[in-house]
Amino acid sequence: MAVERTLAILKPDCVRKNLIGEVTRRIQEAGFKIVAMKLTRLTQDTAGGFYAVHRERPFFGELVDFMSSGACVPIVLEKENAVADYRTLIGATNPAQAAEGTIRRLFADSVGENIVHGSDSTENAKIEIAYFFAESDIVANIA
Ligand code: ADP
Ligand code: MG
Repeated sequence: MAVERTLAILKPDCVRKNLIGEVTRRIQEAGFKIVAMKLTRLTQDTAGGFYAVHRERPFFGELVDFMSSGACVPIVLEKENAVADYRTLIGATNPAQAAEGTIRRLFADSVGENIVHGSDSTENAKIEIAYFFAESDIVANIA
C-alpha cells in the first residue's frame, strides 16, 4: 500500500469542547504521522471555498456558519492508506450512524457539528491540503 497524505480538520466544535488533545492523541495512536498543523479561523468566504462542492446543498449556509464560528485545526496526516484509514477512524458523517469507537460516534453532537473533517479521496486530499498549507509548511518524512 502506498504512503498517502490526507487532510484532517478539527472543527470549531472540537476546539470549543477542548478536545484538540484528545482527538489528536487518537489520530496519532492509530498510526498517523502529523506532518503539518495549525490553529486558524475560517471566514465565511474561506469556509465556503473549502466546501464549494456542497454549495447547492440545503445545509450549505449552516455548514459555512458553523465552520467559520470559531477556531479550527487543519492537520496534514501521513500514513499508508491514509485517506481510507482516517475515514474509518472518524466514522460516518452522521454520528448516530457512525461505528462504535469512532471519533464522530464518541464526540459529535449532530450530522452538522461532527467534530472532524477528512478528505474523501487522494485527489481531493491534494486539493484540500493545498487550501491550507504550502508544500514548504509540510515537514519532510524522516525515515
Ligand atoms: P464528510 O464530512 O463525512 O465527508 P460530507 O462531505 O457529505 O461529509 O459533508 C461535509 C460536511 O457537511 C459534513 O461533515 C457536515 O459537517 C456537513 N453536513 C453533511 N450533511 C449534512 C446535513 N444533512 N445536515 C447538516 N450538515 C451536514
Ligand atoms: Mg466530504
